[in-house]
Amino acid sequence: MTTVGTLSVVATPIGNLEDITLRAIRILKEADYILCEDTRVTGKLLKHYAIDTKLRRYDAHASDKVHDTIVADLEAGKHIVLVSDAGTPGVSDPGVLLVDRARRAGAVVEAIPGPAALTAAFSIAGVSGNAFAFLGFVPQKKGRQTFFEGLASYDTPVVFYESPHRILKTLEALTRDSMVNHTIVVARELTKLHEEVVKGSATEVLEYFVEHPDHVRGEFVVIVTV
Ligand code: SAM
Repeated sequence: MTTVGTLSVVATPIGNLEDITLRAIRILKEADYILCEDTRVTGKLLKHYAIDTKLRRYDAHASDKVHDTIVADLEAGKHIVLVSDAGTPGVSDPGVLLVDRARRAGAVVEAIPGPAALTAAFSIAGVSGNAFAFLGFVPQKKGRQTFFEGLASYDTPVVFYESPHRILKTLEALTRDSMVNHTIVVARELTKLHEEVVKGSATEVLEYFVEHPDHVRGEFVVIVTV
């Protein structure tokens, strides 16, 4: 009988270290090793829960050779965990390629679900409807204009991620033309000390952040309603 390894894709907190499931903690403890983007970031989580499983780096730039090594370990029956710095791997985070390679190699690939910034933001946005579109990060340069032009064509709320360096520019873009009548929700620093949700027209939300420059930091989820 061939031994089949397991790749557990484990969601980790997006800020508050208590936001982790009991199953995630057990799996992090049991695994042969944990693949993570940054050993310092995941090291903090492991320390908090007294987990001493070995950490190995795995990020968006992982080479074919790195993938080959991991797949060989899975083929040898190892149990490997994949985490990202925060939230759910594969959601605007590395993981897709490894998941695909692992499954093609015949490994068991299992999700250990938990936090994701998009669902946390949507859950407190007070936006009605059962559907939404998730667009990941706003393109930084190429495709930016097309991205904003395309927003008006959605008939569901649209959720996307933005960095503190570009949030004001993004809100400015939303004050233009076709988006002027849409309500915008900005969820910042979810689960952290400075968590806040700002909701209003794009102009109102932009004014708020212009008037509170000390709030233009941290991590942002933007929701544009229909
Ligand atoms: N995989 C993660 C998830 O499940 O949400 C997302 C990773 S992506 C590289 C990081 C982006 O997610 C940040 O730039 C921000 O837009 C969003 N994000 C992550 N944590 C957040 C938080 N605590 N509050 C608001 N947005 C957050």
